[in-house]
Amino acid sequence: MRIRDYVKPGDLSHAYERLVGTKGAVVMGGGIFLRLQNRTVPLMIDLADLGLDGVNITGDRVEIGAMTTLRQIEKHIGLPEALTGAMKQIAGVSVRNMATIGGSVMGRYPFSDVIPVLLSFDTTLHFHSSGDMALLEYLENGLPCCDILTHLTFNMPEKSAYKAYKSIYTDFALVNVSVAKKDGYCVSIGARPGHSKCVRVDDVDEVLGLVDRFEFGTDHRASAEYRKALAQALLEDIWEGGESWK
Ligand SMILES: Cc1cc2nc3c(=O)[nH]c(=O)nc-3n(C[C@H](O)[C@H](O)[C@H](O)COP(=O)(O)OP(=O)(O)OC[C@H]3O[C@@H](n4cnc5c(N)ncnc54)[C@H](O)[C@@H]3O)c2cc1C
Repeated sequence: MRIRDYVKPGDLSHAYERLVGTKGAVVMGGGIFLRLQNRTVPLMIDLADLGLDGVNITGDRVEIGAMTTLRQIEKHIGLPEALTGAMKQIAGVSVRNMATIGGSVMGRYPFSDVIPVLLSFDTTLHFHSSGDMALLEYLENGLPCCDILTHLTFNMPEKSAYKAYKSIYTDFALVNVSVAKKDGYCVSIGARPGHSKCVRVDDVDEVLGLVDRFEFGTDHRASAEYRKALAQALLEDIWEGGESWK
């Protein structure tokens, strides 16, 4: 990537003005996925000085700043197990030290280990200008115009677990599964290889049959049948490992 101009604003309104005021301007989280792109950007807006990092837990409500790194989340002792567990399975520590949760959500990466977990928690995204949007809606429709994600929120699940299948530890998942218990059960399956999807049920006996309600695809890495079998195995593994699911 070639960057013609770079700014690191200390004020959110200023950052937003630069974003909407410069055609083709791009905001940067950790910058590690952006830098892989082969294009020229007229203005790069670094969000590092806006104080958008950190985790706040008030009662059941969890708020995570968009610039919080995956490593900060992984190391946080108050966050749900599925989320911290998913972080541990992403690349190496050097990547997790730089990659942010904001960049991980905004990229809508189909391979994501982060999105299925947040989806199973029914996460809400908070934007500087556009206001609040459910993560599911953002995945399906994107944003009407460019904006800055400031933080995301969800209510703490009673219990949660995450498992991914990776051929090699540092590779992208062939499929991944997140389960959260909160007013029923939410099962989210990602890397199918399309965007993560989530199915919610009230009855505990329905959970193990949920894989049939997801579509799986074939690509050069795995067939749809293989992904479906893996997803079923991961779900059963999660279920058998959790003593208090029921
Ligand atoms: C070698 C490598 C291996 C990886 N392996 C995995 C893996 O196994 N599993 C996995 O889930 N992920 C993986 N990732 C992805 C990584 O975890 C991050 O999701 C990715 O790097 C994006 O985070 P970032 O902070 O670097 O975002 P950036 O690269 O800074 O930005 C990504 C996109 O989000 C936008 N953006 C960033 N922050 C904001 C914001 N606050 N508001 C609005 N828009 C914003 C940017 O404009 C850009 O379009 C890997 C990345 C690398 C480089």
